Amino acid sequence: MFQKKIEDALNEQINAELWSAYLYLSMSLHFQNVGRPGIANWYYIQFQEEQAHALALMNYVNARDGKVLLKPIEEVPTSWDSTLAAFEATLEHEKKVTAKINNLYAMAEDAKDFATRQKLNTFVAEQVEEEETVRQIIDDLSLVGEDGTGLLQIDRELGARTFTAPNL
Ligand code: MG
Repeated sequence: MFQKKIEDALNEQINAELWSAYLYLSMSLHFQNVGRPGIANWYYIQFQEEQAHALALMNYVNARDGKVLLKPIEEVPTSWDSTLAAFEATLEHEKKVTAKINNLYAMAEDAKDFATRQKLNTFVAEQVEEEETVRQIIDDLSLVGEDGTGLLQIDRELGARTFTAPNL
């Protein structure tokens, strides 16, 4: 039995994942605009990953015979003062996502909805990776400061990232 409150919470999470996708697309476009193609690439892959998260949850709701309700996606910021500021905003956002996933997990556990809890395991693990990766980029950016050569190197490194569909 798929409980209404779990279905509602999953629908909310789907919206949050789509908002994340929209945010990272906005960041990607911003960095493309200011001539940082590597960082734009990194954020574009984030955009793809967030869409995969949303789709995985949509497929799961349907598999449980629930109903996916696509709600409006709220507006996202469109510019950032620096690369460091964007990645700091990314870390703050990911921490919020982690808290949302944890709440959802606790809700599934309380409701004895073990299938949903199981589904969320990969999401819990992904958040750890996500936060760790962003922290590392923030450390690198803090280290190079305004040094052009350092920033160029980071842009090249982030430009080498390729998209692999997450196994959700
Ligand atoms: Mg996500």
